[in-house]
Amino acid sequence: KLDVVTFGEAMAMFMADRPGPLHEAGRFTLGLAGAEANVAIGLARLNVRTGWVSKVGKDAFGKFIMKRLKNESVDISRVRMDDKHPTGFQLKSKVKEGDPEVQYFRKGSAASRWVPGDFDKAYFLKARHLHMTGIPLAVSGSFRSFARQALAFMKENGKTVSFDPNLRPSLWPSVHEMIRQVNQSAFQCDWVLPGIREGAVLTGSDKPGEIADFYLEKGVKLVVVKLGEEGAYYKTASEEGTVSGFKVRKVVDTVGAGDGFAAGLISGLLEGLAIREAVIRANAMGALAVQSPGDHDGYPTKTELDDYLEKNGEPRK
Ligand code: ATP
Repeated sequence: KLDVVTFGEAMAMFMADRPGPLHEAGRFTLGLAGAEANVAIGLARLNVRTGWVSKVGKDAFGKFIMKRLKNESVDISRVRMDDKHPTGFQLKSKVKEGDPEVQYFRKGSAASRWVPGDFDKAYFLKARHLHMTGIPLAVSGSFRSFARQALAFMKENGKTVSFDPNLRPSLWPSVHEMIRQVNQSAFQCDWVLPGIREGAVLTGSDKPGEIADFYLEKGVKLVVVKLGEEGAYYKTASEEGTVSGFKVRKVVDTVGAGDGFAAGLISGLLEGLAIREAVIRANAMGALAVQSPGDHDGYPTKTELDDYLEKNGEPRK
């Protein structure tokens, strides 16, 4: 039995030890990158039983990824090792402020090659909920087909589906194509979680309420727009609101905040929390994530999260 299933590509990530441009970095620390893997780790730390479906190369990076996820108690029984194609990796610069520079080496990776037989219905049926992002849609045609199949199958079987656009313009032939393909999947999901900038690209409006309406009109049930340090805005057919973000002493690395946010929201909603409570939890996950260097290093255990919420009380007004 699983609570949540997700699928995506994970990569080995080399993080520069010192600030500066990427081509001048001499020393790196190895970490794990991948939006869906981050969400899986975030959920597992909150005691949500989560399976991550993927393909990795039969190489050191592939083994590293499997080991890390296993140590986090993520179910990796449906991860295939491919002996013909490599695991992708990425380089990430260190910055004193703002977003780091990231360079990908992922073309032709094991996770970009899928065949129809790879979709394991029985495994997906074990879960109550599917979490997906827009990245597999961008990685390759075969991964996009897999994603579409998984989404349709989970909806047919009455499961809930959450969707984080996670836009990667560099992986698409054009912005127009990206918007079309990402929205096509988003419209079929129950909960859509865009960042405010992504929402603007996808809907043509930079107003959270209008971004939400764009998806609600298509049948999406809940839209949560991430507002960075400002927190998040949520809207359904019957309620809406804004939840302020938590005060953070020092922002170390913003990558992974959105994934932590998704893990917090999904765990809260599956637990039966009211939407506002789930968004507070999601904000807390995001705030904890930005205070640590790796993508998911800052994600708390359930006890740590409860502790944080108790100590930090109502988020700032
Ligand atoms: P990502 O870079 O991971 O893709 P995103 O664009 O999807 O992020 P953000 O809005 O940047 O999402 O951040 C997600 C959530 O993390 C926010 O909604 C908020 O709850 C929390 N968060 C982000 N930055 C801060 C901050 N500086 N202070 C407090 N909370 C923050």
